[in-house]
Amino acid sequence: MALLYPTLYRRRITDVTVEDIRRLGAACILLDVDNTLTVHDAPELDPAVKAWLEEMSVAGFGLVIVSNNKPERVAPFAKKIGLPFHALSHKPMPTGFRAAATQMGNTSSACVAIGDQIFTDILGANLAGMSSILLEPISTDGEPPFIVFKRRVERWLLNTCHQKRRRESDYAK
Ligand SMILES: [Mg+2]
Repeated sequence: MALLYPTLYRRRITDVTVEDIRRLGAACILLDVDNTLTVHDAPELDPAVKAWLEEMSVAGFGLVIVSNNKPERVAPFAKKIGLPFHALSHKPMPTGFRAAATQMGNTSSACVAIGDQIFTDILGANLAGMSSILLEPISTDGEPPFIVFKRRVERWLLNTCHQKRRRESDYAK
């Protein structure tokens, strides 16, 4: 079960602070796209998220996109925000995360993965031996049926007594 839980909970990516990343001992941030940086399949980036990316970059953290979505979706988005990317990364397989860490010149243990799904982002990060931050999805409207099903199981896992307490305590920090 420990493989299914994140190191830290935050609601939105903009709630993640430079201090959070430093406390996790990470030098590099691996970013999910859909429902983490922007809503599913949306081409635009919220100005607040853009400012957040800038802040993390100025703080000296490496930034790389690791997405399960297709290159046609991920490449134009990554190009627009000027970040390297891995598409079709087959999360929760740890290979995409490990390849991204190596590309950025870091070991897995010096990376933190940020995403909105337990069964891809968090499980994959744990299998790769990196820290992880689970966000709430920006919007679940129009998600494909497979993701809708996973969300149901996620909600059950997240509402177990212990994790609910942890989440609420993390959100309050
Ligand atoms: Mg996602």
